[in-house]
Amino acid sequence: MAIIIQKFGGTSVADADKIKQAARRVIKATKKGYQVVVVASARGKQTDQLIADAHELNPNPPERELDQLLSTGEQQTVSLFAMALEAMGYKAISFTGAQIRMVTDSVHTKARIISIDSKRIHKELDEGKIVLVAGYQGIDKNGNVTTLGRGGSDTSAMALATALKAEECEIYTDVDGIYTTDPRLFGDAAKMERISYDEMLELSSLGANVMHTRAVEFGKKYDVKIHVRNSLKEDKGTIVTHEVPRMEDVVVSGATLQKELAKVDLINVDNKPGNAAKVFSHLAKAKVIINDIVQTEVSTEKANLSFTVDAAELKAAKETVEKIKDEVNCQNIFIRDDIAEVSVVGVGMRTHYGVADKLFSALAEAKVNIDSITTSEIRISCIVDKGQSKKALRAVCRAFELDKPAEQRKQTS
Ligand code: ADP
Ligand code: ASP
Ligand code: MG
Repeated sequence: MAIIIQKFGGTSVADADKIKQAARRVIKATKKGYQVVVVASARGKQTDQLIADAHELNPNPPERELDQLLSTGEQQTVSLFAMALEAMGYKAISFTGAQIRMVTDSVHTKARIISIDSKRIHKELDEGKIVLVAGYQGIDKNGNVTTLGRGGSDTSAMALATALKAEECEIYTDVDGIYTTDPRLFGDAAKMERISYDEMLELSSLGANVMHTRAVEFGKKYDVKIHVRNSLKEDKGTIVTHEVPRMEDVVVSGATLQKELAKVDLINVDNKPGNAAKVFSHLAKAKVIINDIVQTEVSTEKANLSFTVDAAELKAAKETVEKIKDEVNCQNIFIRDDIAEVSVVGVGMRTHYGVADKLFSALAEAKVNIDSITTSEIRISCIVDKGQSKKALRAVCRAFELDKPAEQRKQTS
């Protein structure tokens, strides 16, 4: 029998009615002949509430304890969900990440999945039960509960889809699918029918939190079909899939705004072999995840080294660079946390010109100053003032006609 994974985000299980509605969707899939594994998030804003509770008692909560606490949100949802299914006449059983041996590394609050024991899940499915797994969590080799980073239930779902060789992973959320940009920031954003794994990877790592980045990585690596859709509607959502040739006709398929960002500038570092290695090996030891890096030569003796990190990583990044400032003979450290990053993404950029021109002209017309620019093969990102960032995103969306379906845009050059 084919297996399908259905993942329900926080708003889709926020209260009893929503859980019942989600349960009906699960039942529908079983009636179609699927074995169903449900992955659910904590209800509504419960994770935020638990974090606030922790900080009320300790401004620097130990990360092991934070994970132990946060994992309870998802645990509550899946047992309630199982009760709802039983009440509707279906056999169901819920598990925590630890119970299904979702083994992760030991990096609390942003752990990575190493392996899953799928035997128990198969056994329960084969007995005709609906299996529910608490998202966002795992267990390390020492038996400590870990969490996978905010938004990590998507990754739990995709890891299970891979381990169980599921036919498809459905991500049920509070929007109709993946849009050209966050529809809450640009109300005219257009919904996409499909998007490539590579584009979705860029969009999510640049701030489109509709899908957790590592979940998309699983999809790409193991070729699992992802369907992002609205939990309250029957309509089709967006399929995340391998690239198909005509995708190249669309130069820019989406735009993002990343506001929870900080930039660290190391000014006048000694320009000699090994200094960049020193800085980034210390940051790696401190488990800081770096987004973009820019190094520029100031003279034969000196260089400036800049990098961006998610705001949550700034404290660790700052402590680390302060410790090694003298070792690399750095004159000054500047930190900016009043910035945001606006990006455009599209696989068509590989084969078309004029994207940078259009992007910078749109920002210039909107009178938005660009602090710095980084690029990859399929994206261009600009750091701008946080205060101007929404205006910047909207200007970019208009310039690339991201309010229109892909086939109606005149982007090609
Ligand atoms: P869930 O709790 O279901 O996981 P999330 O809040 O994590 O939901 O993700 C859904 C949200 O992602 C949407 O409400 C939307 O505001 C945001 N979002 C950001 N970028 C996009 C995008 N490009 N397309 C759709 N939604 C987006
Ligand atoms: N509950 C977690 C969060 O709010 C995980 C998730 O929803 O995916 O980040
Ligand atoms: Mg999410």
